[in-house]
Amino acid sequence: MKVLVAGAGIGGLCLAQGLVRAGIDVRVFEREGGADSRYQGFRIGLDEPGLAALRECLPPRLHGLLTAVTGPLAGERRVVDEQLTELRQLGPTSGGTAADRHVLRQLLLAGLGDRVEFGRAVVGYRERADGRVEARFADGTGTVGDLLVGADGVGSAVRRQLLPGAEVTAVPGGALLGRTPMTERLAALVPGAGTLVQGPGASLLIGRMEFRRPPRLAAAELAPEVELPDTGSYLRWVVMLPEPLAGPAPTDWAQVRDRLLTLVRDWHPDLVELVRRSDVGNSSPLTLRYSEPVPHWGTGAVTLLGDAIHPMPPSAGQGANLAFRDAALLCRSLTAVHRGEAELPAAVQEYELRMLDRGFAAVAAGLARLPDFTPAR
Ligand SMILES: Cc1cc2nc3c(=O)[nH]c(=O)nc-3n(C[C@H](O)[C@H](O)[C@H](O)COP(=O)(O)OP(=O)(O)OC[C@H]3O[C@@H](n4cnc5c(N)ncnc54)[C@H](O)[C@@H]3O)c2cc1C
Repeated sequence: MKVLVAGAGIGGLCLAQGLVRAGIDVRVFEREGGADSRYQGFRIGLDEPGLAALRECLPPRLHGLLTAVTGPLAGERRVVDEQLTELRQLGPTSGGTAADRHVLRQLLLAGLGDRVEFGRAVVGYRERADGRVEARFADGTGTVGDLLVGADGVGSAVRRQLLPGAEVTAVPGGALLGRTPMTERLAALVPGAGTLVQGPGASLLIGRMEFRRPPRLAAAELAPEVELPDTGSYLRWVVMLPEPLAGPAPTDWAQVRDRLLTLVRDWHPDLVELVRRSDVGNSSPLTLRYSEPVPHWGTGAVTLLGDAIHPMPPSAGQGANLAFRDAALLCRSLTAVHRGEAELPAAVQEYELRMLDRGFAAVAAGLARLPDFTPAR
């Protein structure tokens, strides 16, 4: 059996790791030219089931490194006003793990070698009479496998062809994603698992990414064959605005930051400092999107996982968790096929039914929580 995966994001790579562990032939095709081609370094919160799914796919020799390069995520999530006066608490999180998407992605590339091809954008596919599928690339070439998995994120080319009627909707308003190197003063903004600032004209969600060990050093010590980025601990923040930033579209983060500084100029000095010190290379405007539920489509040689099928707003806190859980679930189904215990179509259908139920329940939960994070218009 040969599995083709469109997209070397965290979901596609997690699946590839699991399939390699199971002895299944897998090839991953990524649109970007390399793993460092664009900004990717934001913090994601993993829950127990998400982390367990990731560990299930990752080879055991990398589990120690995974623990070393993630961080704690526990405690109260408080809501404050723009002067940092506490308004209420959203309740504690228990047993979570903070991970950096870029570090995770590099870790997930470990040992995959030339099974991952960068600079290979999948533009569509052709289902063949023999039941196999040919993935088609932007350069006009193609490759044939038994199953094509669209793990190509919210703008998925595979989903567009498989489910042309599926709708992806933008969350109204504007959003900005910032990252600021950790200092003692700024760390105090997030005493627990997260802080939501409800200020006039904007909401600001702040989270801590505190690596247990510096990723590059931890890799050198625990798994020298893995190269991880030289990243320090930081605060990740998302600004939600009732409308996109007014005025001409900014061309770089320095312009965005200056407009944001004008908006928050009367806020608590520590919040102004958070924005002022933001990292130009790792902060950017953000489009938040989610998908409307889709019914099961009738199983063939093409399936989907992660944001390619159920993108959700960050208020769900589940996109990455579910990408890992989809990957582990699909991996279990395909392992059964590889061992001769199941037929491919039935195994893929079983995966799809569970994945769709779980994924769209999380989208709905995230949408229900969105008003907590959204400033008044
Ligand atoms: C600010 C923010 C905070 C978040 N916080 C959390 C959190 O706390 N917890 C959580 O669980 N989730 C969180 N998420 C969501 C999480 O990051 C995503 O759900 C997750 O990255 C989805 O993984 P994926 O592999 O499905 O897609 P992606 O990570 O988007 O990967 C898709 C990959 O496919 C590639 N690709 C795209 N098109 C093609 C093509 N045509 N051909 C080949 N390759 C292609 C892309 O370049 C990319 O590498 C957050 C997201 C944001 C933006």
